[in-house]
Amino acid sequence: MQQAWKRSLEILRDRIEAQDYENFISRLHPVAARDRNLLIEAPNRLAIDFITQRYLNLMEEVLSQTVGAPVRVLLQPPGAAQQELFPLSVPARPPADLSRKRPSGLIPKYTFANFVVGASNQFAHAASKAVANQPGDHYNPLFIYGGVGLGKTHLVNAIGHQILDKYPERRVLYLSSESFMNELINALRRDRMDEFKSRFRRIDVLILDDVQFLAGRERTQEEFFHTFNSLYEGHRQIVLTSDKFPKEIPDLEERLRNRFEWGLIADIQSPDMETRVAILQKKAEAERIELPHDVALFLAANIDSNVRELEGSLTRLGAFASLNKSEITVDFTRQVLQNILREKDSTITIESIQKAVCEFFHVRPADLRSKKRTRTIAVPRQVAMYLCRRYTQASFPVIGDRFGGRDHSTVIHATQVVDQRAKQDPTFRATIERLERMLESRG
Ligand code: ADP
Ligand code: MG
Repeated sequence: MQQAWKRSLEILRDRIEAQDYENFISRLHPVAARDRNLLIEAPNRLAIDFITQRYLNLMEEVLSQTVGAPVRVLLQPPGAAQQELFPLSVPARPPADLSRKRPSGLIPKYTFANFVVGASNQFAHAASKAVANQPGDHYNPLFIYGGVGLGKTHLVNAIGHQILDKYPERRVLYLSSESFMNELINALRRDRMDEFKSRFRRIDVLILDDVQFLAGRERTQEEFFHTFNSLYEGHRQIVLTSDKFPKEIPDLEERLRNRFEWGLIADIQSPDMETRVAILQKKAEAERIELPHDVALFLAANIDSNVRELEGSLTRLGAFASLNKSEITVDFTRQVLQNILREKDSTITIESIQKAVCEFFHVRPADLRSKKRTRTIAVPRQVAMYLCRRYTQASFPVIGDRFGGRDHSTVIHATQVVDQRAKQDPTFRATIERLERMLESRG
């Protein structure tokens, strides 16, 4: 295993961002191997979270290829007792909920308590609460739809947990539509359809995630149709999620589509700025990450696509800060998340920066390229150069060239001057920030 690990490291080095490799992967130490399980020590808990989120699958894939058989990686903090963290024959990832008598499939961490409510999800949240309090009575089925990473899975798991808290004897089952299909295929193959049918028809609350996955799967749709009818007639609660409105799911049988629309349909939108900040703060608290308010604002302003990305950035930030023992500041955040932020900024070009700066300072693009050195022109020119450096991948010589054929040393000087002044002069800094927001909203 030691050798396999060494060989895998070489492969991983090529496949993982250099910054992450140096900070995280190169600091891992295998401490024990048994069967095909490899126990690896990581520097701390945040590093474990981060690696698990981003690289665990890749590590297992590479190790498995190197060894020629499936390898499972277990990460532990330094000095943890090996015995308890190193079960000898665990078949797969830990099952979702060991504490309950019956396996519900629910994901333990997704509860109402840690779901942040904002304008974007208020309605879906209220509907979920109502269903959780009186399952089967109202809103059947409850159909929640919204884009990826906006909290659908979280919310429907929260429903399941709350029902079990309130009615411990109810049989709750959460599963993805993909698992539903796989179980069906297995049952068909082993000739166990009766078992499959009775299993799904005994449930009190069925939570089926991502039903858009059923698109085009006729046999699965048919079986689900019968399951649905049997549960519905028995006043059992059905909760569904989808990334699309029922009418927009392609290749879905009309009779199923029709049933999806029988109950209540609630959508989740992208969270607004305040909600993004609140989610970050809640998550930081839970992970014990010291997150200053200005950094939360910076993250929320720059990552507005979905909550999963927002969380991912925070975990990354926390992990880097704890490893480097550094304070989390806006500059530190920029540095750690530069790749993520840069992708987002990819539509910002030297031209669009020059244009925005000219509008802002009321000068002409030709002035930026001219030899004029008056202050009213030199300052906008330097600011524009600075922004080009920050938002584009252009090198110093290229930027110099686009500003009237100036030398690269002029560009370097300009970025330093702007950087310095922004640190010392709050009004100037506010100007830069306004320009940045202007560019980002256009980009
Ligand atoms: P979806 O199923 O819609 O793709 P998830 O439910 O998997 O999204 O959410 C992605 C991540 O974002 C999860 O870790 C979830 O906990 C988190 N999340 C989403 N919305 C919220 C919210 N309103 N409050 C707290 N966490 C949230
Ligand atoms: Mg989901």
